[in-house]
Amino acid sequence: MFVDSHCHLNFPELIDQLPQIRQAMAAAQVDRALCICTTMEEFAAVHGLATRYDNFWATVGVHPDTEHMTEPSVQDLVERAALPRVVAVGETGLDYYGMEDRKGGRSIADLDWQRERFRTHIRAARLTGKPLVIHTRSASEDTLAILREEGEDGGAGSAGGVFHCFTETAQVARAALDMGFHVSFSGIITFKSAQDLRDVAAFVPMDRLLIETDSPYLAPVPYRGKTNNPSYVPFVARQIAAVKGLAVEQVAEATSRNFEQLFLQGAAA
Ligand SMILES: [Zn+2]
Ligand SMILES: [Zn+2]
Repeated sequence: MFVDSHCHLNFPELIDQLPQIRQAMAAAQVDRALCICTTMEEFAAVHGLATRYDNFWATVGVHPDTEHMTEPSVQDLVERAALPRVVAVGETGLDYYGMEDRKGGRSIADLDWQRERFRTHIRAARLTGKPLVIHTRSASEDTLAILREEGEDGGAGSAGGVFHCFTETAQVARAALDMGFHVSFSGIITFKSAQDLRDVAAFVPMDRLLIETDSPYLAPVPYRGKTNNPSYVPFVARQIAAVKGLAVEQVAEATSRNFEQLFLQGAAA
């Protein structure tokens, strides 16, 4: 019934619990999950999950916050994106959050490597025809500008994809939708302080909406602060249902259909 469109099951917090997590998923009617790659080094582990279990799929990509690891070429990404069960390129994008602490006092101008890496991923996605999983944090203007510069306007040849763990404004959502992208909400939408984000969710049309956990991070209420896992994605669906005045089954059905159309159609999955 439910699909978790973004999780990191290969991370140490989750992989050791995999049998229990798969049981919890079945009990919560979470049928499927997309396992997201953040470094070239972990790709084999992420892909292994998708080849071992027929209800998991994989992506290939290097997260914008990844440093001191292998830098992928367009060809590296294209080759892996062509493997069975690999259905998207990412997560990729820009992360300008915490320039003082997380990024050691560097300036946005110093992050040219992030923007170059993002372009590499967009080019690989367009070459393979696979959608992009986009991570954007404190960087929406540059994210949208680079997508446009690389030809991602929703027209012919566009890879499209999803803005994952969406925390931006309705204006940014509007721009992403106009460029043909989907928008995915995580457990953040259940947080008491997230009324602005609930308003954005109210605005995103049902045929462009996805749900995710981004586990092991961002556990939804009532598990906030604990280790997240894909079996908690129904809490995100319930919040969307409340915001939209729908039954949770309708949200499950729409987001599952969107997942299939975006990631599984045409994929040799
Ligand atoms: Zn992310
Ligand atoms: Zn992620």
